[in-house]
Amino acid sequence: MKKILFLGECMVELRLSTSNALSQSFAGDVYNSAVYLKRAFPNVHTSFVTAIGSDALSNNMQHTVTLEQIETQMMFVHPDKAPGIYLIETDDEGERSFTYWRNDSAAKKVMDFIGEAEQATLEKADMFMFSGISLAVIEENSRDKFWTVLQSLKDAGVQIVFDPNYRPKLWDSPAKAKEQFDKAFALSDIALPGIEDFEVLYDLNSAEQVIKHCLSLGVSEIIVKNGPQSVFSFVDSKQEEHTIISVDNVVDTTSAGDAFNGAYLGSRLNDINIADSIKLGATAAGTVIQHKGAIIPKQNFNHAMTEKMTELNNKRQDNV
Ligand code: AMP
Repeated sequence: MKKILFLGECMVELRLSTSNALSQSFAGDVYNSAVYLKRAFPNVHTSFVTAIGSDALSNNMQHTVTLEQIETQMMFVHPDKAPGIYLIETDDEGERSFTYWRNDSAAKKVMDFIGEAEQATLEKADMFMFSGISLAVIEENSRDKFWTVLQSLKDAGVQIVFDPNYRPKLWDSPAKAKEQFDKAFALSDIALPGIEDFEVLYDLNSAEQVIKHCLSLGVSEIIVKNGPQSVFSFVDSKQEEHTIISVDNVVDTTSAGDAFNGAYLGSRLNDINIADSIKLGATAAGTVIQHKGAIIPKQNFNHAMTEKMTELNNKRQDNV
């Protein structure tokens, strides 16, 4: 069984309706990817690496992760920290605004829990995914340790995957974010950037420029997302543009990129070719944006993915 690790922060999500009713769930970029990967590909052993607290919400979070069939052995329990929280408010025009309480979250301490034994466990994985948000969340004084651990995973043959997911508010300065992102690209085998991240941070605004930047740092599999426009891939010296079937009924674009990443990586771990992996990633993203919230109902997601997988399998058989 192939094994993937996702390192990041899962947060408590609070949603305030226009009638002031509060609903609660759990979400976070790499966590969302882990959920969608495992739903689409139950044959991939999926593990989430983070730190949580010992409070009731942390316990519920761990239980929710377990219900998604994701391994929680590396969800470390901090004795006196609690999870980050964010609130989504939607105004009368449907415009959403977010408020975060995450500066002192347990997840910031994740590296404190990685000792020799944990590192040895991490090294047994096939793939390790983290994002620019995972990086920003790790405390500054633990970053050197993070880079050392990442290098050891790479040396052990684990494929490293990075999605920059740039969030300016999480960084002291754009220069600091760039410096850290370039370190991440330099250690990555697969990069999953969105053009938007590069426009804001690097002032690069075409897929070609994004690919060139990643290539210059040694990434071998580069997948560039660009909303409904298209997806570009650069693998084995070959650049290709993949069209996306645009969705008219967009309800909520939260976690579109995360769903894409999960389905794409699950496909690659199942040796599915680049073009079909992108099709499955785009199907996952295109389905998620037709529902409210980061994590959509399992039934709706699984139905769309099964349909697409059957279509791709039939096409492959016709071509044999
Ligand atoms: P983004 O993070 O906006 O680049 O979007 C991530 C992925 O979501 C894209 O690569 C597409 O696969 C998908 N996506 C985003 N917007 C749409 C849309 N309007 N219609 C269909 N797919 C979309």
